[in-house]
Amino acid sequence: MTKINWAGFAKKNPKERLSQIKPLLSKESYYILENKILLKQDIASQIVENTLGTFALPFSVVPEIEVNHQNYTVPFVTEEPSVVAACSFASKIIKRSGGFKATVHNRQMIGQIALYDIKQIDQAINAIKKQKKQLLAIANSAHPSIVKRGGGAIDIKTNLIEDESPLLVVQVLIDTKEAMGANIVNTMTEALKPYLEILTNGKSLMAILSNYATESLVTATCAINYRFLNRDKIKAKEFSERIVLASNFAKKDPYRASTHNKGIFNGIDAVCIATGNDWRAIEAGAHAYASKNGRYEGLTTWRLDEANEKLLGEITLPLPLATKGGSIGLNPSVLVAFDILGNPDAKILASIVASVGLAQNFAALRALVTEGIQEGHMKLHARSLALLAGCLPNEVPFIVDLLLKEKHKNLSTAEKILENYRNNTLE
Ligand code: NDP
Repeated sequence: MTKINWAGFAKKNPKERLSQIKPLLSKESYYILENKILLKQDIASQIVENTLGTFALPFSVVPEIEVNHQNYTVPFVTEEPSVVAACSFASKIIKRSGGFKATVHNRQMIGQIALYDIKQIDQAINAIKKQKKQLLAIANSAHPSIVKRGGGAIDIKTNLIEDESPLLVVQVLIDTKEAMGANIVNTMTEALKPYLEILTNGKSLMAILSNYATESLVTATCAINYRFLNRDKIKAKEFSERIVLASNFAKKDPYRASTHNKGIFNGIDAVCIATGNDWRAIEAGAHAYASKNGRYEGLTTWRLDEANEKLLGEITLPLPLATKGGSIGLNPSVLVAFDILGNPDAKILASIVASVGLAQNFAALRALVTEGIQEGHMKLHARSLALLAGCLPNEVPFIVDLLLKEKHKNLSTAEKILENYRNNTLE
């Protein structure tokens, strides 16, 4: 992978940053960024309905996230101050300790066909079992192109939901290769509906993929040496113990778990948006996974390895990310994002994104168990306040400096400071 000199990157202007990361970019991506080419209105109107235009958000990068001994520059699209800085900070510390290790356990999607009004459930289940091969062939013939790509329907299971009106759910396991697979899975499951109705002598209620993608689990881990947490070993250990306590808090209390996981998704969503992935699908699956033990829990686990003086972090979540399909090929910014990442396949992208989630969580917990989250947040929020108050870009650093010294860091204070600043500089 191309090596970039990241020195001073955060302090440069966008034009200087672009020339600094030029070695990562194809000619086409460089041209897109240099000429500020965005999704065109006529393309946008083909993707969704009633468009009035397109909508811009900041596009940033987090440099040097090391995953399985490879360095990645990771594109982030987010409007929230401090997310990019926090992830950069955390991944730098984790890189010094050997980076992230990530494992993609599998990469298949699940489709569901729900059937009801079945008079003889046992007989229906047996018929489905007996006809499995034929049912898989029907599913695959509904979307032959994914079979040609080496994927397709590979298994069928049943799940009975016992209720006043029982539901027999047929679950189809489908390898969707580089695509997220919603349309592929929906096409296949819909094709199965009429056959299953005949086979079970029942009625189908619906056929759709499940976003609870438990067959697309990814784990990322890191092992941070105490010495990178604090020069003072005792303080480093105490800090690590506080992180472990914070991790336990999020395992036991859904009020905390919700905010804990929101912090994780600050990073994961930012990469999903940059890469044209369906972040609602990823969030829905991960939040369901966070409740797998019957209670909503934090998605990360932090432990101590006292013998080796390390703080160990781990995240596991479903990440059926795509590098093909949906709107991925239509948005020029998405093309740039993939280029910056080095055009990974879907499994590598999932490894990177799981690592981003763990990095983001470490940064948030570090701030929370030390100085609190507001100090860092307010520094960045002050910039937004300065801009909202009407600062010109060259005035922002001065106004931010003055605003940070104030007790009440709000819009009206920023406006007063700007007014005084302009009066004084004009005099
Ligand atoms: P597509 O319908 O775009 O299908 C994938 C496309 O990628 C196909 O055209 C396929 O071509 C092409 N492709 C090229 N190379 C590959 C490859 N190596 N592996 C796999 N496909 C390849 O997208 P999906 O089926 O992934 O569906 C995703 C979209 O569905 C997203 O926009 C999502 O928002 C939306 N959606 C999500 C739902 C949910 O999450 N609940 C529900 C409904 C829609 P070919 O056909 O030639 O194989």
